[in-house]
Amino acid sequence: MGSPTVKELLASTAYDTNVTLNGWVRTKRGNKKIVFLAVNDGSVIHSIQVVADPTKFEEELLRSVTTGAAVAVTGKLVRTEGRDQPVEVHAEKLELYGSADPASYPLQKKGHSLEFLREIAHLRPRTNTFGAVLRIRHALSYAIHTYFNDRGFFYLHSPIITGSDAEGAGEMFRVTTLDAVNPPRNKKGHVDFKKDFFGKETNLTVSGQLEGEMAALALGKVYTFGPTFRAENSNTPRHLAEFWMIEPEMAFYDIHDNMDLAEDMLKYLVAYILDHCADDVAFLNKMYDQELTARLQSAAASTFHRMSYTEAIDLLTASGKEFEYPVSWGADLQKEHENHLVDHFKGPVILSDYPRDIKAFYMKQNDDGKTVRAMDVLFPWIGEIIGGSQREERHEVLQNRIREMNIPEESLWWYLETRKYGTVPHSGFGLGFERLMLFVTGMTNIRDVIPFPRTPQNAEF
Ligand code: ATP
Ligand code: MN
Repeated sequence: MGSPTVKELLASTAYDTNVTLNGWVRTKRGNKKIVFLAVNDGSVIHSIQVVADPTKFEEELLRSVTTGAAVAVTGKLVRTEGRDQPVEVHAEKLELYGSADPASYPLQKKGHSLEFLREIAHLRPRTNTFGAVLRIRHALSYAIHTYFNDRGFFYLHSPIITGSDAEGAGEMFRVTTLDAVNPPRNKKGHVDFKKDFFGKETNLTVSGQLEGEMAALALGKVYTFGPTFRAENSNTPRHLAEFWMIEPEMAFYDIHDNMDLAEDMLKYLVAYILDHCADDVAFLNKMYDQELTARLQSAAASTFHRMSYTEAIDLLTASGKEFEYPVSWGADLQKEHENHLVDHFKGPVILSDYPRDIKAFYMKQNDDGKTVRAMDVLFPWIGEIIGGSQREERHEVLQNRIREMNIPEESLWWYLETRKYGTVPHSGFGLGFERLMLFVTGMTNIRDVIPFPRTPQNAEF
């Protein structure tokens, strides 16, 4: 089972027993009489203090134990009094797994910029900041599965490679095994995808929703939680080319049930992180964003304000504010508009019933002929965090909309068929995992909440 973690040792009361721990040296200080090492193993934000008497160890060994070196320490777990850490380890034995040349190890000094750390994404998990972010990322994933499992949802693995190009969520990455320089061509001179691996054009998925709907129409309540891909060239602090999405789909849910679920889930997840990641949140609060904890507490306790898109347009217009993008009914809301709304209501806002021309084909049409049963959740600090809708369950209405929008109907035959056989009202939404990560960590750039970000011109590591 391995040695105890630093987290376990810091919580241990087995004083004066012998323990062995493994980790990486964060700092080393001292003199000829005594050496202090701060050793961290990633299990917790805190390092454990190791105290060594230099006369007990070979000089060469001690010299190699520098910042970044990996070590095993065996010694007595000693209770400390009146200090930050409850225990320290008095070393009897020191072993060096791997040294880290101080002349070149990039994480020597404290206080590297986040931009610099992106260039060394292979080493940044060893910083306090990324240790905290990655532990929170884990806790948030676990909380999502827990939330759904406890409420009778089934986890669905929707495909990553998709043959339908009609999901309507943006540019896609092609998946192919054809020769890029000399692809086979048909009589018209076009690339012959019949000769490609799947016998047709395929892409990386932009969403698992359509497959999620198929499963919800059999299992009732399902969710996907997987990677999604968008080849849009949006170089913003809120967009990645590869990101993770959570997509619940529920049979027999209307748009109001859908909003209730979205609100309940977001509040649960924020409260979960406050409860289970207190040390990491406190660290990020101290280092980056002194309002983080307060913002999380406020969101967890809030009631999301609900209004229609049309009411939001009226409110924005009445504000008299000069926006960079003018406000008009029918136009998509920009970040500045979303910010104004969350500021106005001092908390999360759910907007519904958007103009149908700016939304996807599968959203349920309202009787007014102008709007659809869409719902977006806007969050302070983030803007859009969830996009969802009640789905169009009427075969004819859906088919007409697909034709109207010039979407290749053949590729959606299977989707349309579920509206012919036992169709029911149903709803769902997509929650961007990294957008929620931005909110709960207070980080300002989405590149800093995923281990290895994929963005335009960047797929290193
Ligand atoms: P935006 O307008 O912000 O680009 P969108 O309308 O394209 O978002 P949807 O297609 O509705 O987003 O996707 C559902 C959710 O996935 C969004 O609410 C957001 O949280 C997240 N999301 C969308 N695109 C990205 C991206 N490129 N990187 C990270 N998260 C994203
Ligand atoms: Mn987008």
